[in-house]
Amino acid sequence: MRWDLYYRGSLSSCNYSCGYCPFAKTRNTRSELERDRRQLLRFQQWTGQQTARLGILFTPWGEALGLRAYRRALVELSHQPNIERVAIQTNLSAPLDELAEASPSLALWATYHPGQTSFRRFTSRCEKLEQLKIGYSVGVVGLKENFDALVRLRQWLPAHRYLWVNAYKRQSDYYSAADIDFLKTIDAYFAYNLHRYPSLNTPCEAGQHSFAVDGDGFMRRCHFVGEILGNIYEADFARQLQPRLCPNDTCGCYIGYIHRPALQWKERFGPGYLERSLALQ
Ligand code: SF4
Ligand code: SF4
Repeated sequence: MRWDLYYRGSLSSCNYSCGYCPFAKTRNTRSELERDRRQLLRFQQWTGQQTARLGILFTPWGEALGLRAYRRALVELSHQPNIERVAIQTNLSAPLDELAEASPSLALWATYHPGQTSFRRFTSRCEKLEQLKIGYSVGVVGLKENFDALVRLRQWLPAHRYLWVNAYKRQSDYYSAADIDFLKTIDAYFAYNLHRYPSLNTPCEAGQHSFAVDGDGFMRRCHFVGEILGNIYEADFARQLQPRLCPNDTCGCYIGYIHRPALQWKERFGPGYLERSLALQ
């Protein structure tokens, strides 16, 4: 049995301020950071007590890789025998040297934000990951002002490295047919991300084989359904994991819809599905 966990602690600060960021752009105080660090430590200890095989994706409400506590946790978790994959969503601005000690089960979900950092700075971090042989995916929000950066990044990245594009869905009809054709040349799976999938009362493995965990241990199906299923720090937490139907009208985010069996995304991506990395030819 394997569970995929999406961990999001109380951290909310980020060194970038992307205009499209759905998260709170805040600066955490020292005591807030300390609270987040304690939550992380407790979660890490809990993972070591589980007999299930685990995949973990850290989905912080901000940027966590810049914090030493997260870098240490990633390295340590990568060596834990029951952890098949540990990954984190990051803007890749943090120093990466400490990650050299990680096992190959570590991977990064890296997003390039062209308005916030230079192309050279971002790609130098990718170079470092290549040197360290750390798996990663790279992605960009598909705003029209990012199209040039997408072309440049696709040309720069090794041919086997997947570059995903997150469709900008807040404005309907944002893309012309020509835009969509162009984005498909960058990301062959762009069309899958372009729409929200009708999901109400349809099967989803979220809440059965995967679940979201917050800093206090509360479990939810996914980051998009608020109902609390239980708490990982209570003895009977695993009893809450069972086949479920989605209570939302639609599901439009990769970290959600990969758990919809009808789409067969996990099969398509293989072992890199958690960090969204796909081995290209
Ligand atoms: S880097 Fe990520 S978390 Fe930070 S502001 Fe940009 S989108 Fe938000
Ligand atoms: S379909 Fe999406 S929103 Fe619904 S439970 Fe699954 S992951 Fe969550």
